[in-house]
Amino acid sequence: MKRGFLVSPEPRKSDCELLGNISAPPKRPRALVQIPGHKEPPPELLHAVPIDEATARHGVVTTKIPPAAPGWAPDPDMYTCVMIFKGMKEKLLALPGFPTPFFTPTPPVYAIKPAGKRYGGGFGLVATADINVGDLIVRERAIIICPGWMPIPRGQDGKADLGMYTTAMEFQLGPERMAGYFALSNCFGKQKSAFHGIMDTNSLPIGGLPGYTGGCGGVFKEISRANHSCRPNAIYSWDLVSFTGQLRALQPIKAGEQIFLAYLSSDAPRAARQAEMLSKYRFTCRCAACSLSGSYAQYSDLRRTLIALQANATAELRKTDADVAAWAMNTALPDRMLIEPAEIWLNWMLGERSMNPMLLAAVFSRLCKAYAALGDEEAVKRYATQAAALEKAFTGSDGGWLVVASAPRDSAWWGLRQITREDEHRS
Ligand SMILES: [Zn+2]
Repeated sequence: MKRGFLVSPEPRKSDCELLGNISAPPKRPRALVQIPGHKEPPPELLHAVPIDEATARHGVVTTKIPPAAPGWAPDPDMYTCVMIFKGMKEKLLALPGFPTPFFTPTPPVYAIKPAGKRYGGGFGLVATADINVGDLIVRERAIIICPGWMPIPRGQDGKADLGMYTTAMEFQLGPERMAGYFALSNCFGKQKSAFHGIMDTNSLPIGGLPGYTGGCGGVFKEISRANHSCRPNAIYSWDLVSFTGQLRALQPIKAGEQIFLAYLSSDAPRAARQAEMLSKYRFTCRCAACSLSGSYAQYSDLRRTLIALQANATAELRKTDADVAAWAMNTALPDRMLIEPAEIWLNWMLGERSMNPMLLAAVFSRLCKAYAALGDEEAVKRYATQAAALEKAFTGSDGGWLVVASAPRDSAWWGLRQITREDEHRS
C-alpha cells in the first residue's frame, strides 16, 4: 500500500475555518467514550543511520535472528537468516523485549494449493475455514531478510555470483528451512539465479531496521505464497518487536476462496497497474479489478483516481473535531452535510479495496461523530464495528473502536444536534 502520499506539504484551509472556530464538542458529564480520531503517520524508526556505500560493500553480516540459545530444541521455522550491515544486529537485539512471543492460528485456516493456470500453474493460499475481517490468517518469521540494496559479487566471467550468500544462508538455517525457500516461485526464470529470482519474486516489505534507513525485504515460507490481486481480500503487515510478518483478512473470506495480497499500490488505473506488474513480476494481472470491461473498468479507474486525489487532501480530515462541532452546533446546515461525502468516499475505498489506514480512520471518525451528534445509535454501532475490524486488519488491535460500538450514547458527541436545536427553541 502506498503511504508516502499521506504527507501533504502545506495544510490547506479546512471546512472548519469556513464554518466557525469550534475545536471540540462541549464537555458533558456523561461522556465516557472517546471516539478515535485521525492518525498521524508513525515516527521514523529508532535513530536510523544511513549506511554509506563503502560500508555496504564490505560490511554485510549474515546472522540468525533470534540467536539460537544453548539447549533449545531447534524449530527451523522460528529463525530468520538476516543479512545486515555491521552494528545492526546489536541494535536489533537491544530493542526492549525483542523478540516478543507470537502466535498463529492452530489449526491453520488455509492450505497451500495449486492456484490454476491463471497463476502460472503455481500455488496459492486457499482458505479452509470462514475468516472474518481483521482475523489473523497466519503469522510467521521470515526465512530471510536483507536490505533492498546489497552488493552483488561477480565471478570471473563478470556474471552475478550469489553463491556465497546461498552458502551463508544454509549455514545459518539448515537444509529444511532452505528447502522452504527454494520451493517458492521464481518469475524471472533463468534471467536471475534461483536465490536472486526467488528473492525478487517473493520479497515483502519490512521497512527499516534499527541502524538502517533504507527499506528491507523479507521472504516468507507461507505468506509469500499468496497471489496478487489489485482487489485483495487480505493485507500483510510487519511487526518489528516480534520480528514477524502477519496476514489478516480485509474482507470476509469463505472456506474454499483464494487469499490474495496486493503486491503493489493499488490506487493506480488499470493500465499503469498492469504495466508495473509486468515489469516487476513478469505477468499480466487478470484479477477481479483488471478483468472488468467497458464502463465498469472506466468506473474502477475513475474511483481509484479519485481516491488517490482525495488522499492528497488529508489536511482537511485532520480537523475532524472542529468540522463536526461547527456543523453540529449550526442547525442551519443540512443534517447530512458531512456524512454524505464521507460515505461516498468510504464506499469508493471499500469497493476498490484501495484503502489507506490513516485515511480510513479519519473517515470513520467523522462518520461516528456526525451520526452520534444526530443521535443515530444504529449507524454509530455499524461504522464503529466496521472500523474496529479494519483497524485490526491493519494493526492487529481494534484501536478503541469496539468501546465506541458498545456505547454510542456515552460519547461527548451524542445528541449534540438535538441539544443545539432544543437550546435554540428555548431561547
Ligand atoms: Zn489486477
